[in-house]
Amino acid sequence: MSHHEARRQRLCRLLRQADLATLLVTDVTNVTYLTGFTGDASYLLVTPDGPIVLSDRRFTTQLEDECPGLNLEIRGPGTTMLELVAKVVRRARLARIGVEADSMSVGLFDALGQRLLKVAWVRTSGLVERLRMIKDREETRRIRRAAWQARRGFEVVRASLRPEQTEAQVAAALENQLRLFGAKGVGFPSIVAVGPRSALPHASPTSARIGASDFTLFDWGANEGLYVSDLTRIVVTGRISPKLQRIYGVVLNAQTAAIAAVRPGATCAEVDAVARRVISRAGYGSAFGHGLGHGIGLQVHEAPRLAGGQDTVLRPGMVVTVEPGIYLPGWGGVRIEDDVLVTRTGFRVLTNAPRHLIEIQAG
Ligand code: ZN
Ligand code: ZN
Repeated sequence: MSHHEARRQRLCRLLRQADLATLLVTDVTNVTYLTGFTGDASYLLVTPDGPIVLSDRRFTTQLEDECPGLNLEIRGPGTTMLELVAKVVRRARLARIGVEADSMSVGLFDALGQRLLKVAWVRTSGLVERLRMIKDREETRRIRRAAWQARRGFEVVRASLRPEQTEAQVAAALENQLRLFGAKGVGFPSIVAVGPRSALPHASPTSARIGASDFTLFDWGANEGLYVSDLTRIVVTGRISPKLQRIYGVVLNAQTAAIAAVRPGATCAEVDAVARRVISRAGYGSAFGHGLGHGIGLQVHEAPRLAGGQDTVLRPGMVVTVEPGIYLPGWGGVRIEDDVLVTRTGFRVLTNAPRHLIEIQAG
């Protein structure tokens, strides 16, 4: 059985628990997850008689390549997607259909209701997303590859850093290196933040120069084709000040303790609390203003979320980031981020880039 077929079978089990037999999957990432199709503008209708992909003629060849054997319904240029859905639903005599309420537009929901008056449209939430939390072997293999590409690309860029380079130039060089190591591109827009700019957890690269401060924060990841990695490292380009040394040590201790707490049965909130306790005890509790981490996979932010109040229980196959940080406006921010697989007995770190503070001679 293919990975995708196994995923669809798991979805059918979830549907039965929700008292449904049919789901119209409109979220493009969920369609990819369930079929392997990497194009867009296509839906998957999961029915008791099997899955049907609804798409248009631009994708016919790609669909036959990427998901051979799946039933296709292809619309011509004179037909809308709505008309195609209506045709397929009427022909299959479907009376009760689940929809993905988290991502479907209100406009589409209303239009379906008006066109197919006799169908009961049932709003569902997070069904495919719940499956996506647990990675299968193929997914873990791909995330590891994305992690390897990220590390190798970063090593090259770090070794060639020069003080006159700007954040934007370094980010561009990093993206290029990821591609040279086989990635399709970045997993998300890279953050390269010099000195005080690193206090902004989501700084976008500017014309600030690497030589303007003693350290630079990198937050980057690769997209190996479908799956992404997500790392953060601090690169020292000047002198390691006592303050940087101290704060880095606290963040590293928090991250090490939190990673060690990752195991099946722990809740997301518990792992978050482990890191938060270390940072609070050091007196920086209020400077750690975001959750500890998030799931990664086809997207850079997916379920589960490691944060206070999140009672999702960690299970083998989940892949989460662990990324505590301390941000001091005007001085800078320190964050260390790795991608961690929950195993049957504990955890495995998938991003094995060195974590100690490295002093490099820039220039
Ligand atoms: Zn990140
Ligand atoms: Zn992250």
